[in-house]
Amino acid sequence: MSAPVAPGRVLPTLNEDGTRRWLRPKPSAGAWLSRRTIVAWVLIFIYVAIPHVFMNGKPAILLNLQRREFTFFGTTFLPTDTLLLMLLAISTVIAVFLASALAGRVWCGWACPQTVYMEFVFRPLERLFEGGPRGSTQIDKDGKRFHPRRFAKHVTYLIIGSFLAHTFLAYFVGWEQVTHWVFGSPKAHPVGFTIVTITTIAMMLDFVYFREQTCMVACPYGRWQSALLDNDSLIVAYDYNRGEPRGLGKDRTGKGDCVDCQACVTTCPTGIDIRNGLQMECIHCTQCMDACDAVMRKVGKPEGLIRYSSLAALKGKGRHFLRVRTVLYPIAFTAVFGTFLYQLTFKDAADITLLGPAGAPFTVQPDGMVTNQLRVRIANRSGIAHAYAVEVTGVDGAQVIAPMSPMAVQPGRTETMPLFVTLPRDAFEEGIRTVTVRVTDGGNYAGAFPYRLTGPIREKDEGHDDAERGEKRKPE
Ligand code: SF4
Ligand code: SF4
Repeated sequence: MSAPVAPGRVLPTLNEDGTRRWLRPKPSAGAWLSRRTIVAWVLIFIYVAIPHVFMNGKPAILLNLQRREFTFFGTTFLPTDTLLLMLLAISTVIAVFLASALAGRVWCGWACPQTVYMEFVFRPLERLFEGGPRGSTQIDKDGKRFHPRRFAKHVTYLIIGSFLAHTFLAYFVGWEQVTHWVFGSPKAHPVGFTIVTITTIAMMLDFVYFREQTCMVACPYGRWQSALLDNDSLIVAYDYNRGEPRGLGKDRTGKGDCVDCQACVTTCPTGIDIRNGLQMECIHCTQCMDACDAVMRKVGKPEGLIRYSSLAALKGKGRHFLRVRTVLYPIAFTAVFGTFLYQLTFKDAADITLLGPAGAPFTVQPDGMVTNQLRVRIANRSGIAHAYAVEVTGVDGAQVIAPMSPMAVQPGRTETMPLFVTLPRDAFEEGIRTVTVRVTDGGNYAGAFPYRLTGPIREKDEGHDDAERGEKRKPE
């Protein structure tokens, strides 16, 4: 029994019988392609160079997931910087909203690494090895398992994909670590070798197999498009008023400017027909603009049948720069990003957190003295190593033992030291005594934090669970 056949094409990358329709877009030379080529190669250079660029002695971008530390342009955000990271993430989201409201999917078509590498590295190589869209289609039709030209293409893809995978990994582990893995024996670095191998395979799967599917299925941006764009957003659009009714032939009586040549369709990297209106699959790459402009020049019509425009402008309502979202987004961005910059600028040189004990909140010694154990966690946010000393004030006669004080903490690192505070039983009122823990680094940093010690209320209360644990204390 044969598989059921759809009455027409359901998806641009699906044949009627449900099989994958491989897209072999025809390149369209033109002013937009020239501009995009320049932008793409500048971006490729930047994407590859970033792991090699150092600022303040750190990689320009390093996303250390293992230690939950994120470095951006010389500034490292530690695991304790939840607020800062949240403000930065919200600022980025608002910036994306604003960019989309103003310029549509400009990121997708011009700057996204997926588009840039696919359209300016991998597809050109495919055309070079396989002889253009026609050659690729013929190889598809031949259906041979082994074709020397396709094999050569895949070998080249593997080399480039492997390089890109290593570059991608360097964003997460640093170039030094990647180099160490590359030149070391896989036996010596089985984890590193596995990560590199999996990333290379993922890179190959993306550029050999998934291709435009990554934009259409995996990336959520297309699905957000209807919420992010409005009638005045800049989009790549077909001027249906001018183009319709479309039709072939020299006699243009009663026809629009579209000669139905399909050039805009055959060049589209996502396989859609822009004449069907704004679609989720359109990444606004401008290839159909170049294709159609070339046709218009040939038939003696003005260029721009497909052009950057807006839904409102196409309906003759003009373009409106000032809209609710183009006013609110910049205000929200300024507020959130301003708060982020303020917090970043005036943040302490160290993050101190007082933590309760891991076990019982206090112990009563044979001589009746009460001992509390607490832990002082110190994150050194400064650019140099410091030795942090700890003392406890606020109660006379306290015995304080801080076996690790002063404790050396390297820049960007977090260390924890134990602290034992012993007080007479009568120092507690209703089982509580508040003391002050003072932390200094001998120069740049000094902070004082209140901490509630716990003790017995009555004899039988020894070991009760009245203590606060893991509570972050703010300086007094
Ligand atoms: S419709 Fe045009 S702009 Fe949109 S993806 Fe296709 S070629 Fe690019
Ligand atoms: S390239 Fe232009 S003229 Fe040709 S089908 Fe597309 S819109 Fe019509």
